[in-house]
Amino acid sequence: METLEFQAEARQLLQLMIHSIYSNKDIFLRELISNASDALDKLRLAVLQDGVEGDTGDLRIELEADAEARTLTVRDNGIGMTRDEVVELIGTIARSGTAELLRRLKDAKGDTDLIGQFGVGFYSTFMVADKVTLVTRKAGTEGHGTRWESAGEGTFTIDDAPDAPVGTAVTVHLRPADEEDALFDYTADRKIREIVKRYSDFIAFPIRMGDETLNSMKALWARPRSEVSDDEYHQFYKHISHDWVDPLETINLKAEGTFEYEALLFIPSQAPYDLFQRDARRGLQLYVKRVFIMDDSKELIPDYLRFVKGVVDAADLSLNVSREILQQDRQIQLIRRRLVKKVLSTIKDLRANEPEKYATFWREFGRALKEGLLNDPDNQKAILDVATFASTAGADPTTLSDYIARMKEGQDAIYYLTGDSRTQVENSPHMEAFQAQGREVLILTDPVDEIWVEAVPDYEGHKLQSIARGDVDLPNPETETPGDFAPLVDYLKETLAAQVKDVRLSHRLTTSAACLVSDTDDMAPALEKMYRAMGQ
Ligand code: ADP
Ligand code: MG
Repeated sequence: METLEFQAEARQLLQLMIHSIYSNKDIFLRELISNASDALDKLRLAVLQDGVEGDTGDLRIELEADAEARTLTVRDNGIGMTRDEVVELIGTIARSGTAELLRRLKDAKGDTDLIGQFGVGFYSTFMVADKVTLVTRKAGTEGHGTRWESAGEGTFTIDDAPDAPVGTAVTVHLRPADEEDALFDYTADRKIREIVKRYSDFIAFPIRMGDETLNSMKALWARPRSEVSDDEYHQFYKHISHDWVDPLETINLKAEGTFEYEALLFIPSQAPYDLFQRDARRGLQLYVKRVFIMDDSKELIPDYLRFVKGVVDAADLSLNVSREILQQDRQIQLIRRRLVKKVLSTIKDLRANEPEKYATFWREFGRALKEGLLNDPDNQKAILDVATFASTAGADPTTLSDYIARMKEGQDAIYYLTGDSRTQVENSPHMEAFQAQGREVLILTDPVDEIWVEAVPDYEGHKLQSIARGDVDLPNPETETPGDFAPLVDYLKETLAAQVKDVRLSHRLTTSAACLVSDTDDMAPALEKMYRAMGQ
């Protein structure tokens, strides 16, 4: 037997679990069942695709409670783990998000809702346990299995388990019961049944206690929406997304005919911390006729909709389908196109009918969605239709069509100004004449704004026009006397010859003496800055 130390981050996380005041401790069982279900999926795939030897005839999850010993065991006959895998997967936290989780948990001072966002998984058992034992054997390997045990306090032991069957059994040694804790008796049949029903009913493998199967195993996406409760959808969402919070919106989709598929998609109600990180997990789950094929299938949804979670079940794909095949598959491309349309139309409906939900959506995901203006030209118009932008007209963001409806006589272009913040943009000298004439200007402050405005020529026939560029055709109410200023302009031109291309009189200023503008074809300054930073 060997005693090993948890990696530092894992140790911190365990401490948080042990002292967690999160009231919903029931979810530890959901996490264990979810891991067991993943392990069964993995075994089925390994046998099917990699020729691993294994018995997939009776894949199942078994629950066994012992009231006297105060233990609850979750057993699966899935893929199992090698000794090295146990040490690596259970002893360390490989996931890049964990450091971020710990930092945010400290900032939030005990806001334990954050825990779920990061999918703490197996460690959540330490919310209820003073000891956890895991016995496992990897499918298709020779030799003995492995036994892992820990009280969650800094170290774990690892040992051989000669008789372990293929699969994994996790035994949770429950902490001594509080007096008033009949409600939290995790060895009681009723309690276990209730948790399984609530959190894990849709799991595709039987969850058994004794002879009884506790879950209905019905694939949620295959059931008519009218028969599924919101709560069932929400639990399913949490299962696939590792989110703790209910989704903002649920989307069902079904295609019949020559090429059949069903999809169940979710728009989360908050952006994951890694929405703008390159290595973040993204993509949908792919099933073929109810059989899980793969996670994170990026081929099913474009990058700018990477926040969408869900499942696609395609009837006509081969069970052996690989990522390489998916990339070229025409059916997958058709599904993807359809999913994009459906998500965009859902957002449009939200905007029309549920303004509060829409506001949440836009705050959390608008920045990602705008990437689509660059990357998905076919849907540019549809994205602009659902987009909103800050504007000088008021505190609330506006749609482009509302902007157009407010345009003044003689105005043809949609005016905008980009910058780092609303205050900076509002105080820009470029703004003066527009403010003075009461002309509305869109305030664009996301980094991506600099770029998409270059890619979008117009909206509903109205050009997008930066007020920092070229000659804005702002009608001038006053008459001017350029003659009087000619000597000054000449003098400035000469003096500043090395710094500027030209010096012009302008009617865009009312109180400032001068401002810098770019030529119509010059790069926007921020874009120039960005390209320079990228070394171009
Ligand atoms: P996650 O499930 O999100 O990956 P967990 O903390 O729940 O995170 O589990 C960590 C890892 O441990 C899993 O990814 C899996 O590789 C392994 N694991 C956990 N439970 C099992 C199990 N019952 N069978 C096989 N592997 C498991
Ligand atoms: Mg898990």
